Amino acid sequence: MSPLDARPLDPDVPVVDRRRAACYVHDGLWSTERVADLLRTARLRSPDHCAVVSGATRLSHGALHTAVTVAGQRLTGLGVRPGDRVVVQLPNCTEFLVLVLALLDIGAPPVLVLPGFGGYELAHVVRSARPVALAVGAPGGPTGAVGSARRLREEHAFLEHLLSLGDPTTDGVDLAALCDPHAPWHSETAVTSPAAPRPGPDDAAVFLLSGGTTGPPKVIPRGNAGYAYMIRTACDLAEVSADTVCLAVMPAAHGFILNCPGVLGTLAVGGTVVLGDPTDPRRSFELIERERVTHCALVPTVAMQWLAAAAETDADLSSLRVLQIGGARPTPELARRIGPGLGAALQQCYGMSEGLLCYTRLTDPGAVIVETQGRPASPQDEVLIVDEQGRPVPDGTAGELLTRGPYTVAGYYRDPAATAKAFTADGFYRTGDVATRTAGGDLVVNGRVRDIINRGGEKIPAEDLEVMAARHPTVQAVAAVGAPHEMFGEVVCLYVVPAPGQRPSLLELRRFLRELGLAPYKLPESMEVVSALPTTAIGKIDKKALRADVARRTAAEA
Ligand code: AMP
Repeated sequence: MSPLDARPLDPDVPVVDRRRAACYVHDGLWSTERVADLLRTARLRSPDHCAVVSGATRLSHGALHTAVTVAGQRLTGLGVRPGDRVVVQLPNCTEFLVLVLALLDIGAPPVLVLPGFGGYELAHVVRSARPVALAVGAPGGPTGAVGSARRLREEHAFLEHLLSLGDPTTDGVDLAALCDPHAPWHSETAVTSPAAPRPGPDDAAVFLLSGGTTGPPKVIPRGNAGYAYMIRTACDLAEVSADTVCLAVMPAAHGFILNCPGVLGTLAVGGTVVLGDPTDPRRSFELIERERVTHCALVPTVAMQWLAAAAETDADLSSLRVLQIGGARPTPELARRIGPGLGAALQQCYGMSEGLLCYTRLTDPGAVIVETQGRPASPQDEVLIVDEQGRPVPDGTAGELLTRGPYTVAGYYRDPAATAKAFTADGFYRTGDVATRTAGGDLVVNGRVRDIINRGGEKIPAEDLEVMAARHPTVQAVAAVGAPHEMFGEVVCLYVVPAPGQRPSLLELRRFLRELGLAPYKLPESMEVVSALPTTAIGKIDKKALRADVARRTAAEA
């Protein structure tokens, strides 16, 4: 049977052009094997091998399989059906993993929300994805998200279940119990999955959220066939196999950590995933030494913290084989220090939740690994670098990078306007990134066409912030730009024109934005009060001038 015979369960998922899809099938890239199938096969292959380490919990592949199967039955018992969406906003913990794997198994795609997102972003995602359930909280106790989730449930009739972790006071479902096969459960139901429809190749395995475009996060349906192909390919390129021990310290809800090959790739080949958090590099080093970690993926800012801490540790990091750096571009100096400082091979990764992944290869010459962000993972990834008129530019010339390919999506979920803006008529995704292709075919990412502030890998659409800040009564006009920052690369600086007779204060604006539910990492870290914002010839706010101004001020303060 061809994978293309299966019809999409969800008519709201944009499908890849059928001619191209047929080529991906013909060339053996797309198959009927879903990511859930790869993961299940791996769990059954070596049931005694360690699959997950999280805090004091250690689960073998066999134990993980039982937990995932039982959680899937319990979710089915609650009424979650193939094609239903479940929004998941959880930190790295066993419950995150069991829930996500169970949802993959029953074909109800998880919509993965970063733990750092606030109520504003969560509300937007819920309105876009229309999930039947929302999973929030943290193992240690409730988070702000639990309050937001309760309010969302009251507002939206489609949201039937609140699955909450670490909050016994909630009126929702106890997520810790749902994910523990030994915990008593109120309504065990027989599994009905044999009769359940099987999601098609374009149906989402998971939904990721956009980081590289303007406005609040958009919901990205990562189709089963492309996603499985991408994860298999990423495993090959990062040399991930059954003896891999992958440490996830950055949020596993982000594609870079989840699927490049990350958590899902490692589990799909029968390896071991160690869950942690990035707050203290010394704690990460303890985990590397204790679990003999071989692979890890970091954004450049955290890699810098690791290098500083590595100079003062006597932890044994010798098991570390591959350190992937991505999410933002590392300076060549930082890249050069990774090998000597941490004893691991550097792999630069450039990509986006919408699809395209580029990697430096582990066998590339040193200069390529240090100075470029690599080349596409698949020979069938198509990359165009174009000028402002959309015409391809020669190698060595910077332009906007457009891409389509076997695992790049065809559009956003239930958002035709955003799809029309971000994708060309022939299916290329406009990344908004400015890049140059070297004569050797490697890409160097130079910056962005669109107005995004990249705070150490976390993307902050300037427009979003400006619209919210402009609602404050002391503000007449406002512009947000990235101010150079030693640790994060850039942080948010607000330029504010005060309303008549008003004196805006940074503290007050931060409090206001927080109250509107904006994620803490998006808050401005500095503010300049100005009498007018500079404008370009056609009257747009001159962001270039503001960026130059903030760079001058930052340099003067240093
Ligand atoms: P996200 O969808 O959150 O993964 O964000 C994707 C965006 O992050 C890309 O479009 C780039 O703007 C940026 N990005 C990711 N990796 C890199 C990298 N290695 N170098 C420069 N920018 C990057």
